[in-house]
Amino acid sequence: MKKIGLMGGTFDPIHYGHLVLAEQIRTRFNLDKVYFIPVGIPPHKQGKKITSSKHRYFMTLLATITNPYFEISKIEIEDDGISYTVNTIKKFKETVDYNAELYFITGADAIYELESWKNVKELLGLCNFIAASRPGIDEDKLKSKIKDLKEKYNGNIILTSVPALAISSTDIRNRVKKGESIKYITPESVEYYIYKNSLYLEE
Ligand code: ATP
Ligand code: MG
Repeated sequence: MKKIGLMGGTFDPIHYGHLVLAEQIRTRFNLDKVYFIPVGIPPHKQGKKITSSKHRYFMTLLATITNPYFEISKIEIEDDGISYTVNTIKKFKETVDYNAELYFITGADAIYELESWKNVKELLGLCNFIAASRPGIDEDKLKSKIKDLKEKYNGNIILTSVPALAISSTDIRNRVKKGESIKYITPESVEYYIYKNSLYLEE
């Protein structure tokens, strides 16, 4: 059975934090592929302005092109509705691979919000969750949260850690706006794409 990683995110823009996370998990869990899934309309970021899905898709494409194990799925950006992960996973199974064992990769921050996601129980029945902790995160608190979730929903949530990368898309957007360097925080191709398309210059 194939093992496939799914990496959801806004990717506004994608950066080395996302890429390191996906690659570390791919190798550690022997995944055959990792699909990056740029969000269409994020349920949790309503009201916040996000860059067009076209730009976010292209940046994700540029950033992942050098890794033969990375793919991109347009499932969420081709759908007009709000992107709920449970629907995405069902659609992924229907359209890409019904039999693969799926691993949804996420940063540990998402674990605390998981219960606000649509149909958590169904979601945890459809895929494994890999929660990546970073140094600085309170692991005891996280472990007890994961234990609670496992008991309540009977899902498989695996805690693992990835090297510290104090990088976020928010930080990159702020840097661009202030004219600060983003070199080595995101791939050069993404850096050039941002400047060429005048992204992140205004609120
Ligand atoms: P924003 O600052 O806009 O919230 P972000 O950098 O957190 O953006 P997202 O697209 O929201 O990026 O994140 C997608 C996934 O990548 C999430 O599961 C998040 O936890 C994880 N992630 C983001 N940054 C890092 C990082 N530096 N190291 C490891 N995982 C990360
Ligand atoms: Mg985030």
